[in-house]
Amino acid sequence: MRTAIVVGSGAGGAAVAKELQEGFDVLVLEAGREFRPFALNLAVPERLKRLGLLFDERHIRRLFPAMRIDKTREGMVLVRGIGTGGTTTIATGNALRLDRDLRAIGVDLDAEFAELDREVPVSTAHQNRWNETTRRLFSIFEETGLEPRPLPKMRRRESCGSCGRCVLGCPSGAKWDSREFLRAALDRGARLITGCRVGEVVLEKGRAVGVGARLGAARKFFPADIIVLAAGGIGTPVILQNSGFRLEPRLFVDPVLCVAGPWKRAFQNVDIPMPFVAERGPLILSPYFDYLSYFFNRDWPAGAGNILSLMIKLADARSGAVAGGGVEKDLTLEDTEALRSAVDLCVEILGRMGIGKSDMFFGTLNAGHPGGMLPLTSADAGTLHPRRLPENLFLADATLLPEALGKPPILTIMALAKKIAKAIRAADG
Ligand SMILES: Cc1cc2nc3c(=O)[nH]c(=O)nc-3n(C[C@H](O)[C@H](O)[C@H](O)COP(=O)(O)OP(=O)(O)OC[C@H]3O[C@@H](n4cnc5c(N)ncnc54)[C@H](O)[C@@H]3O)c2cc1C
Ligand code: SF4
Repeated sequence: MRTAIVVGSGAGGAAVAKELQEGFDVLVLEAGREFRPFALNLAVPERLKRLGLLFDERHIRRLFPAMRIDKTREGMVLVRGIGTGGTTTIATGNALRLDRDLRAIGVDLDAEFAELDREVPVSTAHQNRWNETTRRLFSIFEETGLEPRPLPKMRRRESCGSCGRCVLGCPSGAKWDSREFLRAALDRGARLITGCRVGEVVLEKGRAVGVGARLGAARKFFPADIIVLAAGGIGTPVILQNSGFRLEPRLFVDPVLCVAGPWKRAFQNVDIPMPFVAERGPLILSPYFDYLSYFFNRDWPAGAGNILSLMIKLADARSGAVAGGGVEKDLTLEDTEALRSAVDLCVEILGRMGIGKSDMFFGTLNAGHPGGMLPLTSADAGTLHPRRLPENLFLADATLLPEALGKPPILTIMALAKKIAKAIRAADG
């Protein structure tokens, strides 16, 4: 059987590996290790915060190896998951179908979303367990005319204790993440090598013949007939550039800014994160206890249970770049204006809760949905293969998304990855 290498095991990688294993001998190369949720009692980082020992978000890896943080030159914090399941293991489990831009260029994902409907448990039943603060916020969003709606979550509600730790890895296994597709691929015979960081695709006479990777201290070459890069919106562009492909600066990241205030016994930190959402043009607002800001941002006072926080997430302009292994991403004037207007709205909502404006504080500007560095175009819609790549080199992750979604992309990336696997199998006969 012919060999297909899949690089990365996150939203796109695991979905493509599972589907490809039906026609290929699949080898998944994953830079991180087997995912483990944050294991420490939260009292430990809490104590470190009180002692002033947490000051750089990049140090989170010492406590939680599966979470990787980089900073852009402009200081924005970029969060991603490195390990089996990729960033899906540290996601809040939101599941939205967001394929309008893909449909506009001619990519029809109806069949793939229908498959995902059968494979991934999604529900809004968590609303029956919202705590008092969340319920009160929901009413205020309604009164403000924001038309909030509960967010569908990928999780098994029976085992979810609404503990609020989704972004630290689910301790009970209630949250669905891409490791379930990865396991299905392995059950069908796929192989997985963890701790294997792919550096570049090796090309010969215009074809991809394999990948070069670092496995521990060793450099290895893995030959393949088909290669699918799914190392995420930052990882994949790095590999493409190392392999000699030039990419335009089109990165989007969906920036996130929280506006928070003191609220006695809010206990938002122990309720389901992002329970509901309100949309305003390119922005969404959602209640969200921001652990990273809480631990690392000194504006956030100690006492997690007494903080109330609202998240603003923006579909930003495609203005960033992955260059020389680092990320450049400045907000445009329009992005900054949009964020500013959303901050005013958050101030109004928190004000209606009874929090004084002078008591409010901001979270750290961060982002966790990078993508768009080699987007699909209408010319690629039939093959799902970016034409500037060799015919046996494919992508299957957020790199292909035409525009920033400003909303949770996992479900859409998985649907696209499934369709790409089908296109590869069809092209291979
Ligand atoms: C805190 C947080 C919460 C989020 N919550 C949600 C949510 O609720 N719903 C939602 O839809 N989205 C959410 N997202 C975003 C979502 O998780 C990502 O957009 C999505 O997982 C991206 O999928 P991907 O396949 O592009 O990359 P990833 O899922 O990031 O997978 C990339 C994989 O490639 C591996 N890799 C990277 N470089 C290499 C290399 N050189 N060699 C080998 N392997 C490599 C990585 O280890 C990783 O396994 C969240 C993101 C964050 C940060
Ligand atoms: S709230 Fe807790 S138990 Fe429920 S899915 Fe998130 S991490 Fe798992």
